Amino acid sequence: MTTPIVVCAECGTPNPAHVDRCCHCDRPLNGPLAWVPTAAAEVAGQAYTELLMAVERKFPGESRHQTALRYIREAEQRANDPTPAQCEAVT
Ligand SMILES: [Zn+2]
Repeated sequence: MTTPIVVCAECGTPNPAHVDRCCHCDRPLNGPLAWVPTAAAEVAGQAYTELLMAVERKFPGESRHQTALRYIREAEQRANDPTPAQCEAVT
């Protein structure tokens, strides 16, 4: 069983069929496009879709892709910056 996926005509990003705007570039998806994925592309598309669908809150002016990217970068930034608690533990 495969998840219905539509591919954005603008950027080529696979999107879950139930979204009406591209998760990557936020352009309207003008009707499902026939897309027969290769096995590798299908796995990659499903993994990407899983990642995007983990973003439960949609932020205005931000695509799910951008929100996911921001979350990841924020987490990475926190990991790179020592928190005060970690500073105190060192001293
Ligand atoms: Zn797109």
